[in-house]
Parts: sequence; structure tokens; C-alpha cells
Amino acid sequence: MSDLASTASQIYQSALSVIEAIEPRIANATRQELADQRASLKLIASENYASLPVLMTMGTWLSDKYAEGTVGHRFYAGCQNVDVVESVATEHARELFGAEYAYVQPHSGIDANLVAYWAILQHRIESPALAALGAKNVNDLSESDWETLRRSFNEQRVMGMSLDVGGHLTHGFRHNISGKMFHQKSYGTDPQTQLIDYDKLLADAREFKPLILVAGYSAYPRRVNFAKMREIADEVGATLFVDMAHFAGLVAGKVFTGEEDPIPYAHVVASTTHKSLRGPRGGFVLATQEYASSVDRGCPMVLGGPLSHVMAAKAVAFAEARRPEFATYASAVADNAKTLAEGLLRRGVQLVTGGTDNHLVLLDVGSFGLTGRQAESALLDSGIVTNRNSVPHDPNGAWYTTGVRIGTPP
Ligand code: PLP
Repeated sequence: MSDLASTASQIYQSALSVIEAIEPRIANATRQELADQRASLKLIASENYASLPVLMTMGTWLSDKYAEGTVGHRFYAGCQNVDVVESVATEHARELFGAEYAYVQPHSGIDANLVAYWAILQHRIESPALAALGAKNVNDLSESDWETLRRSFNEQRVMGMSLDVGGHLTHGFRHNISGKMFHQKSYGTDPQTQLIDYDKLLADAREFKPLILVAGYSAYPRRVNFAKMREIADEVGATLFVDMAHFAGLVAGKVFTGEEDPIPYAHVVASTTHKSLRGPRGGFVLATQEYASSVDRGCPMVLGGPLSHVMAAKAVAFAEARRPEFATYASAVADNAKTLAEGLLRRGVQLVTGGTDNHLVLLDVGSFGLTGRQAESALLDSGIVTNRNSVPHDPNGAWYTTGVRIGTPP
């Protein structure tokens, strides 16, 4: 154990004894979680192990500070240190991903997606509508102007990957606010290859004319061509929004480059920090300069006070991801997924899309006469933690499922 890790471990042990004096059940559950994590093989595609510096940065008095607003423009006094924290975090995020603008306040991936959606609505709908009404900002609008604006927000269309084939709830699922807020149409995958069919997507987008085209996934074991996605978005006048929550680590680690790197092609990108990126639990948004001032309005539009301690931990995680070791880690994640997929295929396991070229493998366990739920618990009994997941058009529904998703980031 390095000196740093051993000091950290001592600090944690002391912290736990302090917690124990107040609520022993919490101290015990925390200790037990560490023991469980170390005693099992974690293969959950959306989880990871944050480093000790990241974990330690979250457990500080920065948590006590309210800092609504943006750097240098806060609605509370005494935010000078949070200003430093937020500036450092955004600087690292911009440098790490080569983005024009970064916003690190969202508390989670869903928050980041909501900030992104509202920023796009503000930029594409609200700003032209305000200009047409001769208003400078929303405060100048009358109640009836507001009614018109609200209606035009509601009439917007979003097109994202269907939850059935690996998209996320926030990409327009009917029981998520994204599916209620917008008219939505989802795109699927080719029934034979189970891959995104870009020609079909283009044809559907021409017909549906979305304001927002969403690219990104939670359970699609392949890379996406963002150049093609941008061409489709441009062709139909949509804003390209990429949710890279799952694969941000592979972008940061330069496994996804060229047309597989979303940053040069997307107008707005949202992400989590805690999955393949290996940071604290949280979210962030990247954008072109054109969308920057709309994203900056994440608070008060969607968020309240930022979690200053978590923004600090994001800064540490981004700094870690800028080191050469992170690129080695990220390529190992992709190599391990490929090796795992090859091993499974050799043993006769059916894989969605026939393999992987990212960080996850989706097993179709139906041919073994199992549901995903049965396979998930059998694996858990063997000390392997995974999660059951639907396969495309799953006959067993979202609770029992026919699939198991295995990921290599942890
Ligand atoms: N976007 C995608 C693609 C995800 O897979 C997830 C989480 O699973 C999220 C967003 C939401 O992240 P969070 O759980 O941090 O809100």
C-alpha cells in the first residue's frame, strides 16, 4: 500500500469510529460495504471504484457551503473558495475533453440531461421567441406571452434510442419526464444485426423532424458514429445532444477518437462522472460556445445550490483522467470487454450484437432457459455482481428480463 493510501485508510478508520459513536448502524454498513466490494467481483457496467483522493475530497466542509449561481456571480456571500473549486473543475473538464465550455454543477446524470434539455429549449425556442416579442429576458414577458412560450416548449420533439434496445429513460421514455415534456419518437436497432441503422434513423428523422436528436445509451455494446449522427441532425435541423454517461471514460482515455468522439460533433454533451470516468457520483455538461450561456442557467432552471464538495471531487477525478495512466486504464477496459465477450462466445453464450467494442457485454441468457433475474442471482451467489437487463424486444419484460449486462470499468 502506498503512503498516501495507508494514511487515507487510517483517516477513514478514525472517521468511522467518530460516526460509530453517533449511529453505529451507519458505521457498520459503511464498513460492510467495503468488505462486500472487496470480496466480490463487481462487473456492473455503470459502476466503478473512485480513488481515495476522490473519495476524500467529497468528505469535507466544502459540503457546508451554499453557492447558487455561477463563478463570480453567486447569490450567497463567502463563495471565494467554491469559485476556485468550480473554476478548476471546469478548466479540467474543458481540457480533458477538448470542449469549448463545461458546466460541473449537475448532481447526477439525470440532472445533467435536464440541464441540457432546458438549455437547448432556451437556445432554440426561448431566445428567438423573446426576440420576436421584443423582450430581453423572460422577466419581461406578460402572462399571455408566457402561455405562448410554454405551448411552444411543449410542442417540441425529441428522438432518442429506445429503452428497449439500450437507450436511457431520459431519452424520451414514456414514464420519464423527457417522454412527457416532449413529443417523442425512439429509434431502434436493426432486427438482424442489432446495430444502429443510420439510414433508417435518417429516414425516420426526416419524417419526425426532431428539435433534439439524442445519441448515447446505457446497454448498447457498440460504438456510435457521431459524425453520422451530426449529419442526420443537420439534415433535419436538430440539435445533436450526446449523453455519454456510460462511455465518458473511454472518451477521456482516448479509446473513442475521430468519429467516435462525440465532442467535435455534438452541440451539447451531458455525462455522469461516476461510471467509466471513475469520479464521484455526479454529472456535468459540455457544450459549444453557442449553447454556453443557456447551460449556465442550469441553476435556477433545474438545479439549486451546487454540491461544492462533489464539484471539488470532480476536479480531482478530471485531473486524474488527464494523466497518462488513465488512458492505459481506459484501453484496458475496452480490451477486457472484448476478451470477456470472446470467452463467452467460445462457451456458446449468445451476445446481443454478437460482441462488443466498448465497455459492456449484453448476454442473452434465454437459450439457457433462464431469465435475466435468475442469471443475475446465480452469478451473485458465485460472488459476481452484475445486473439483469432487457435484451432488444425482451419477451420477459423489464423486471425479469432475458439479459445480463456485464461491464468492465470496475
Ligand atoms: N444517462 C445514461 C445513459 C445512464 O446510463 C444513466 C444512469 O444509469 C443516466 C443518464 C443517469 O445517471 P444518474 O443515475 O446519475 O442520474
